[in-house]
Amino acid sequence: MNSIFHIQQGQKIEEVDLEERIGMTGMSMLNLAAMDLPVSPGFIMEVSKIEELPQKAFRRILDASIQKIANNTGKGFENGKPPLMLKIVLSPGMILESVPILQYLGLNNQSVQDLARNYDSNFAFSAYRTLIEGFSKQFLGIEQQTFDDARTICAGSDPKAHCEYYLTQVVRDFPQNPYSQLEIAMYGMVKNYFTDPLNREIPASVVVQYIPYGSRDNPSLVGSLTTRNTRTGEPKLNGNFCHSEFLDDPEKIQELQKLDQRILDEFEEIAATLEGHFLDIRQVDFVIEAGKARIIQEKGIEHKSVVTKMRILSDLQKNQHISEEEFINSFAPKELNSLLHSTINPNSVKDKISFQGGIGGSLGATCGRVFFSTKKLIDAYWKAKNENRDTRVILMKKSTFAEDVQAVEIGSGVITSEGGYTSHAPIVARSLGKPAIIYPDITFKDGYIVIGRRKVKEGQFVSMEITSSDDPVIILGKAELEYPDIEQNGVKNLLEKAKQFAGGIKIFANADNPDEAKQAKLFGADGIGLCRTEHMFLRDNRIYDLRELLITRNPERKKIVLEKIRTYLTSDFYELFNIMSGMSITVRLLDAPLHEFLPTDENELNETLSHLPDLASEQSKAEISRSFNRLKETNPMLGHRGCRVGISSPEIYDVQTAAILDAALKAKTENNIRVFPSIMLPLIMSQEEMYLLKNGQILEGKENVNGVIGVIRKFMKENKLERQPFEVRIGAMIELPAAALSAADIAKHAEFFSFGTNDLTQTTMGLSRDDINSFLPAYTEMDIWKSDPFQELAEPVKVLVAEAIRSARQVRPDLQTGICGEHAANPDVIKYCLNVGMDYISCSPFGIPIAILAVAQSNLAV
Ligand code: PEP
Ligand code: MG
Repeated sequence: MNSIFHIQQGQKIEEVDLEERIGMTGMSMLNLAAMDLPVSPGFIMEVSKIEELPQKAFRRILDASIQKIANNTGKGFENGKPPLMLKIVLSPGMILESVPILQYLGLNNQSVQDLARNYDSNFAFSAYRTLIEGFSKQFLGIEQQTFDDARTICAGSDPKAHCEYYLTQVVRDFPQNPYSQLEIAMYGMVKNYFTDPLNREIPASVVVQYIPYGSRDNPSLVGSLTTRNTRTGEPKLNGNFCHSEFLDDPEKIQELQKLDQRILDEFEEIAATLEGHFLDIRQVDFVIEAGKARIIQEKGIEHKSVVTKMRILSDLQKNQHISEEEFINSFAPKELNSLLHSTINPNSVKDKISFQGGIGGSLGATCGRVFFSTKKLIDAYWKAKNENRDTRVILMKKSTFAEDVQAVEIGSGVITSEGGYTSHAPIVARSLGKPAIIYPDITFKDGYIVIGRRKVKEGQFVSMEITSSDDPVIILGKAELEYPDIEQNGVKNLLEKAKQFAGGIKIFANADNPDEAKQAKLFGADGIGLCRTEHMFLRDNRIYDLRELLITRNPERKKIVLEKIRTYLTSDFYELFNIMSGMSITVRLLDAPLHEFLPTDENELNETLSHLPDLASEQSKAEISRSFNRLKETNPMLGHRGCRVGISSPEIYDVQTAAILDAALKAKTENNIRVFPSIMLPLIMSQEEMYLLKNGQILEGKENVNGVIGVIRKFMKENKLERQPFEVRIGAMIELPAAALSAADIAKHAEFFSFGTNDLTQTTMGLSRDDINSFLPAYTEMDIWKSDPFQELAEPVKVLVAEAIRSARQVRPDLQTGICGEHAANPDVIKYCLNVGMDYISCSPFGIPIAILAVAQSNLAV
């Protein structure tokens, strides 16, 4: 075993498990040297060796080692040579609160004069003062207080006078022989270390290193750099430097980029070597002496953002320093959240009033003028647009309903005071990738709100931020936003790699409009797994057509309205087929309770009549109002909803199906796109419903129910097609316990199942997804629930899902199964879904990256 380890550029490490013997600092230096990096030369000795070696042998080793450094640097302890200065530091095999260190060892009354003459007086005497003080405190037993008093006496005098005072009044016997200084310091460090008997058990070493410095003509530069930007991860050297003699003067500090290009190029190479070795961003302290860079110290960065971590690991993977698998396993899927959404620049809101708390319904940050109704928000938006002003608007309401979707679409965020994670506003916001908060402490007044005793008027600017790590925050005033670029920040690379480990599991999006579809595709979705069609009826005054359809008694009008609906729905689906070109799109036929499409008050009724002159001419206002009232329900979520609507008003499902087929054919023939439409029936509870909605029924004396297959037949006839131009799969949403328990029967008529776990949780647990928040805190505080069952799958729901898949596959082994509730973007739920044999995951576009990563990690773990 070696008694001494030389720190010398290019020197290979021959011994194993050395870090246990020489500690981290020493090991770091040997590693850098072995990487052929320009470390400052020196040597390392274990404390046990220093203690054990006979003094003569120890001296011999020191002499030889100093000679080696002298040869390497051209400096020496002898008179007449440029003075050699050393740094001595303890390198323990544990973390110490403060590590003993001594700087500028080697200076004495003579060499300090030489240094002052040939280099810089201020630097020379400051260094000597530091040495005298450090040496005397550590090894000569002089108290700190003595130096504090001396400093007070010397205040205002220059470093030279200061040194003279120390040497005449405080430390009269300061050793002048550099070798003696070195010996005393090394023995002293060992002695001090072993004052604590427990340290006998913990090996350590003493590291001695050369301190570079320049000459008067060619002053040395001291600096520090990080191998890339610590905040953004951008692979660009960051740091600063100054001339050694100006170390204490912040005004003399310059940006790293002002260094010579040759040195910068060398630092680039050093950075690449370090990152390739440590697989992380690193910090390097350096000195440039006569144009030569030397590393003085090197270490990791303590606090890194996920952004930085992603960028560096992505670069390391691209350069093959880490494998794809290592890259994929380096992130918890939820960590991606902060890389997908905009964030607030904290400096821009430092002095603003903010309110923290509530429930984060949808992640991200935004800023905009708040409006308390959809109508006002839309008017304000268009006014701002026409006047070329800031169009950002935020909807703030107690809760939102179907008619508010437009406001969430147009707006940049939504804040509600009621509801929970799976309430209407968060679901819509999540699918659109817009931030949403449920903040209960808001009182709505006429034209203003009160939040935490503060008044906010309609039209005032508010900012909001929801992250996955902190409580959501609402800030009064404008914030500056920062937007992610997934191509640049490494997320895209991660997703591309992760998709290679999908193992056949498809990741679909819950998307029903072009923006969502494009976003999903950008994140790597394999298609659309849930196209919620109710939103399509809420665009551009279409709601009036649906209202007319529901209550007109005129069959001719019904036909006209249906034709009109078919035209615009076709155009909506056509756009989706084009965007998702060649991918599968699963369209869920109308699900929302009819109740949600009805006028809510007199104003809306009048508005409806003004849009429907034909209806108004056929029926009186009172009759129309009565018809609407008849459709109103006490408990719409369990009422005239989902496939119940398809059975009571078959023409609605027929027109939707026809539009899907028309659009698919158009995309296929006009744009040569491969289309894979699937039609999904919501809230199925029995095989009879499924059978009827799929196959139709002949009814005596009434118009027949076509069912999806009947509509396909009609479509072929209309288009004079002999063969079906594309396959249309028909499936069921399993979102009621009744459906899960009769899964084997339903599977006879369904090619796929999509588990709607929002409703399945709601109906299994008997909990309203919109009203859970009033008691959720009590349930989690008292440990009845570990978490919100609308975010984590509750055990009974899991049992139903697993049992439904097991029993259904006995009847139909090739049944495709997936999940499309909000749980689908939860990595733990995804793991569970894969375990029970699901084939796909469908979640909101911004959940797609998380799902892709969670699937890959699950597959890599088996
Ligand atoms: C569900 O219930 O899980 C689902 C996806 O449908 P929705 O949220 O639209 O009711
Ligand atoms: Mg549902």
